[in-house]
Amino acid sequence: MTTQKVFISGKSEALIVCQKCGQSKTIEADAAAIRGKTAQIRCKSCGNSFQVVFEARAKYRKDTALQGHFFRKTALGDELGPMAICDLSLGGLRFEPTGKTMFELGEVLTVEFHLDDAKKSLIRASVVVRSISERDVGVEFAAPDEHMRKVLGFYLMP
Ligand SMILES: [Zn+2]
Repeated sequence: MTTQKVFISGKSEALIVCQKCGQSKTIEADAAAIRGKTAQIRCKSCGNSFQVVFEARAKYRKDTALQGHFFRKTALGDELGPMAICDLSLGGLRFEPTGKTMFELGEVLTVEFHLDDAKKSLIRASVVVRSISERDVGVEFAAPDEHMRKVLGFYLMP
C-alpha cells in the first residue's frame, strides 16, 4: 500500500484528498503534533481506505518571473486578468496583478500559467487568497492534485 503525503498548511489544517474518487476533506489538528505521523483514513464517499503521512509544507520558495492569468467570478461577471508571478512554492504563490483589481481574503480564484521548464508545463489551479499587500497577492493552492505536486516538486528542486 502506498502512503499518501498530506501537507499541513498554516498551523492547523491539512487537506486530504481521496485518490480513488477525488473527495476532499480538511481536517484540523495541531501541526506540531501531527507532523511526521501517519494515519489510516477511510473515505466517507467511496469507502476507499488509505494511509497518509502528514508533512509540513515545503518551505522552499522559488523566485520567478512567470506570466499568467487569473480568472475570478464577481457580481459583475467573470473577470480575466494578467498577472506576474513573483514566487512559487508547493503550497502556493505570490503574484502582482496588472491593473486595479481588488481581491478579498478568502476569495477563490483560478490561476493559469506555464512554467519555464523544458516542457513549459501548464499549471491551472484553484487558489485561495491568503494575503494582500500593496504590491502583491499571496494565494494558496486549494487542492493540488498528485500530478501538479509532482510537476511543481520537480520544478522547485533547488
Ligand atoms: Zn473516495
